[in-house]
Amino acid sequence: MRVEMEFLGSGTSSGIPTIGCDCRVCHSDNPRNKRLRSSVLFRVNAGESERRLLVDVTPDVRIQALRAGLSSVDAVLITHAHADHFHGLDDLRGLYWGGGREPLNLFAFPETLDSLKQTFSYLFDENYEYKGIAKFTSHTFEHDAFEAAGLSVQPIPVIHGRMRVAGFRVGDCAYITDTNEVPPASIEKLQGVKLLILDALRKAPHPTHMSLPKALHTAEQIGCERVFFTHINHDLEHEAINKELPDWASLGFDMLKVALEEDGTITITEPGHTGAPPPIAF
Ligand SMILES: [Zn+2]
Ligand SMILES: [Zn+2]
Ligand SMILES: [Zn+2]
Repeated sequence: MRVEMEFLGSGTSSGIPTIGCDCRVCHSDNPRNKRLRSSVLFRVNAGESERRLLVDVTPDVRIQALRAGLSSVDAVLITHAHADHFHGLDDLRGLYWGGGREPLNLFAFPETLDSLKQTFSYLFDENYEYKGIAKFTSHTFEHDAFEAAGLSVQPIPVIHGRMRVAGFRVGDCAYITDTNEVPPASIEKLQGVKLLILDALRKAPHPTHMSLPKALHTAEQIGCERVFFTHINHDLEHEAINKELPDWASLGFDMLKVALEEDGTITITEPGHTGAPPPIAF
């Protein structure tokens, strides 16, 4: 099984550049310092048998889907009910239409699903009159692996201040955003993971997110071969920080693709390899 994770976004809740901020990172010309809200697309296998799992539905999902050339997904996984991770839910109608108007299978912790239903009651109301909306089939999970789009997905519960967040493991790849603590039982569930994407907000400690030093330490505890960081704020300038990191760790950036091949090797595909610029620039 080949598992690829594509960074649809790598930024913290405000996105980078942040509205009204005059800092050098927010004004940087380097595209790697431009970060839409954090989300990842798992692409498992390729061609006809490709399965696409979208993790989180950010307020930027429309632009993210357009620039990734994404018109349908096989499942939607939600990490937690903070605005930067699900407020793009209405825009999934584009992927619902692209998927042949089959209801989108959406997976979340029970309390996360409750919050989604409160915020977007009409999307989950079978009797809602207006037809131009996405339809969902909702599923909940707890600690055990579940099946999504024919794949086994292992939830990785992590702590985010006072709430729990779901990380996800598919094969030997894992995605964990929005956490200040990965508890021992979840470190256990991550044994054997080779490729990891992990929250690292900034250098300084934070009550609900990993700092860069803590994220490095956590990646070492897990013992992965390669880690890429996400949910990055404007304190971290891409090139300067990457020079400080060990060779097995890097800052992620929008449109980067990292994959674990069938033979266990890790491949990295940077955006622009086809020569085509992203369709949206800002
Ligand atoms: Zn977040
Ligand atoms: Zn800034
Ligand atoms: Zn959050």
